[in-house]
Amino acid sequence: MKIFTSPEQMGEWSNARHREGKTIALVPTMGCLHDGHLSLIDKAKEYADLVIVSIFVNPMQFGPGEDLDAYPRQLEIDCSLIKSRGADLIFAPAETDIYDSSFQTCISITKLASGLCGANRPGHFDGVATVVTKLFNITRPDFAVFGQKDFQQLAIITQLVKDLNIPLQVIGSPIVRETDGLAMSSRNKYLVGEERQTALCLSQSIARAKELVRDLAVPQDVTEIIVEVKTIIAASGATVEYAEIVDRKTLVSQQQIDSNSIIVVAAKIGGHVRLIDNSILQ
Ligand code: AMP
Repeated sequence: MKIFTSPEQMGEWSNARHREGKTIALVPTMGCLHDGHLSLIDKAKEYADLVIVSIFVNPMQFGPGEDLDAYPRQLEIDCSLIKSRGADLIFAPAETDIYDSSFQTCISITKLASGLCGANRPGHFDGVATVVTKLFNITRPDFAVFGQKDFQQLAIITQLVKDLNIPLQVIGSPIVRETDGLAMSSRNKYLVGEERQTALCLSQSIARAKELVRDLAVPQDVTEIIVEVKTIIAASGATVEYAEIVDRKTLVSQQQIDSNSIIVVAAKIGGHVRLIDNSILQ
């Protein structure tokens, strides 16, 4: 298994594989891999001959006071997980390989980044869009695979690729959950004691919303669904950051459920672990 840290070496490898007629898929991650990440490798293999997994904890997408320094890092374990899942190459640059001292460019997303996580994490998606564009330029993939767990991120990257005519196809991959329903996340590692149980409020409130969508009379007003979702989260002791039903393409808040509706929630568990979850409603 090759591990590259140098963008130049990485680009040369991809060019050589393209000359051989191979297709390449990129799975961008921040490491601390779990089964959710590894499922993206499986998805990538459905599309491309070769799979690159990038591991880079991107400082540009963390705001002041966020968990950049505490973010879990486990490069050796990640490398063996990636190898056993059958990816072909790991790109794990150092911060200075990505941002040298003269770096000064930022890609800015407007409408899609304005609500939900974007409203609560100013600058976050500009940081994501910038690093993902750099990773695309360095690794030169034909496909890039992102999890639907970060639904707003997936929508933004899809738009970015279209807006900037980046020659690759963005693939979304389903959320992988623990057996009790908690969406897998690197940040689940921060949950201590009872917080692990409290964290179930996200998936449980979403399950209740889906039940209501099934049972309520049509046309369905979202207000009472959202009230119930927020009540479930608050009753568990977590703090709701947002709970909305939005159009899955525009991410604009909806008042009526339709075939494009998706419920998205974010909550803080134990005052310190920020988790997100979502589901298509129909
Ligand atoms: P991260 O390392 O958190 O930046 O995530 C890297 C990629 O893994 C992103 O495309 C995420 O959406 C995806 N991902 C994270 N958790 C899950 C999950 N539980 N199921 C599917 N994909 C996931």
